[in-house]
Amino acid sequence: NYRCRSAFKLLEIDDKFHILRPGLSVLDCGAAPGAWSQVAVEKVNALGTDPSAPTGFVLGVDLMRISPLEGAVFLPEADITDPNTLRAIQSLLPAGKVDAILSDMAPNATGIKDLDHQKLISLCLGLVNLAQSILKPKGTLLCKFWDGHESRVLQNRLKEQFREVKTLKPQASRKDSSESYFLARLYKGK
Ligand code: SAM
Repeated sequence: NYRCRSAFKLLEIDDKFHILRPGLSVLDCGAAPGAWSQVAVEKVNALGTDPSAPTGFVLGVDLMRISPLEGAVFLPEADITDPNTLRAIQSLLPAGKVDAILSDMAPNATGIKDLDHQKLISLCLGLVNLAQSILKPKGTLLCKFWDGHESRVLQNRLKEQFREVKTLKPQASRKDSSESYFLARLYKGK
């Protein structure tokens, strides 16, 4: 049982693109209430449920509180854009780095489409910067964005830093017509 229907978006993306597998270490940004983290815990074998496969690691960060989840470490009441959060993340990561950064973050919508779009794009651009400190070379970044005129800016930044960038529109998010995801793979590193 997933905490939120958003789980099905990640499951759908992962079924198609296989971004999560046993042994990987994952940062889940905007993790509350924890459905994506639930999916990640299963897929990376964070609980060691499959003893024959490597054990992964899941760290979830959110502005909100998150109920504990077996197999995941949460950093609640933390703003991903705050430099203190980066330090806390680094201290919690077993190897200091992750294989994948996932973001389903969304700012509180004002209803002003353009403003909401810009706020989310700048959150995503912040993640591209965060990647420099914590994403392993060849790593993956998956981030939600709301369509608008600055999507290209984000897409271009991602194309500079990753060998492959795809735009995804999961069936499960069809109802929210302005919501899409960028899947950026093969991080070039510094
Ligand atoms: N993927 C989650 C799940 O499956 O349970 C749902 C995520 S929800 C759509 C978006 C989350 O992003 C909210 O919980 C919100 O608090 C969080 N968020 C927004 N801005 C943030 C920020 N600057 N730092 C951390 N989390 C943020």
